Amino acid sequence: MSSEKRKKIVMSTMIAEDGIKEKKPTQAEVFPVRVFRPRLELKKCKKTYGCYAACPENAIVIEKGFPKINYDVCTGCLICLRECPCGAITEERE
Ligand code: SF4
Ligand code: SF4
Repeated sequence: MSSEKRKKIVMSTMIAEDGIKEKKPTQAEVFPVRVFRPRLELKKCKKTYGCYAACPENAIVIEKGFPKINYDVCTGCLICLRECPCGAITEERE
């Protein structure tokens, strides 16, 4: 992403915080470089949905009862990994 585009996105965030403009960019739009990504092992998943509830980007959806990560939205913050009580989420380098 060019620095000009990043500046525009950050500026629009600041405007949104003042209540002038509604739409905020997602974190993935502001910081598009992901170093680590979460990896789900569904065999270990006990369907607690802690990862789903904790994801700040709404990058996790539930499909057929199991969580699924949308990597187009995921920023790699790994909050889901910390919230999983079953060790079903690990991290891997991009
Ligand atoms: S790494 Fe962060 S953004 Fe990605 S799925 Fe987990 S909680 Fe959501
Ligand atoms: S937090 Fe872990 S056990 Fe719970 S739904 Fe997510 S991956 Fe499965």
